Amino acid sequence: MAFELPPLPYAYNALEPYIDEMTMRLHHDKHHATYVNNLNAALAKHPELQPESLAELLRNINAVPEDIRTAVRNHGGGHANHTLFWEIMKPQGGGEPVGALAEAINRACGSFARLKEDLSQKAIAVFGSGWGWLSVGPGGALRVHSAPNQDSPLMEGWMPILGVDVWEHAYYLKYQNRRADYVAAWWNTLNWENVAQRYERALKGL
Ligand code: MN
Repeated sequence: MAFELPPLPYAYNALEPYIDEMTMRLHHDKHHATYVNNLNAALAKHPELQPESLAELLRNINAVPEDIRTAVRNHGGGHANHTLFWEIMKPQGGGEPVGALAEAINRACGSFARLKEDLSQKAIAVFGSGWGWLSVGPGGALRVHSAPNQDSPLMEGWMPILGVDVWEHAYYLKYQNRRADYVAAWWNTLNWENVAQRYERALKGL
């Protein structure tokens, strides 16, 4: 099977002024495309591998043949992470979650403000490249955490529902070294309906 780069679900400039058009063009058309291409190149070496989905492949990363395991980890993780990233943002986004997701955040973190503070802090603190994550674990527990490089929470058996990319390619053109300013701005792009749908699917084990 060959994976494909999904189109960006909105215009390249739609997240302005929080994320600039040039960053979105390079990030989607070049960086994400490279992850997809390199994932496909790795999988082409093992045509016997027929994963049902990218998520299944990443959940079972330790069963991937050793000669392509690192490539699948980096580029498969990159493909999954970026696909989520585009979808959990939208034009005129931001605000706060509602309903069951909001209640789960309150139970896990105390309040939405605390989630925001905790996730921002963990994302900003990533040394080098990586992501800040909100993930759903076994039993429906929410966890705020970070991960290095393109590692996906799926590799640890967790379902990511919200993630912030803190690789420099995600913000350097507009924010240079000011990662904290980028993370603060990113909250204004969030598509909480999409995050809530992911939460509901995670609870059902989908
Ligand atoms: Mn990225």
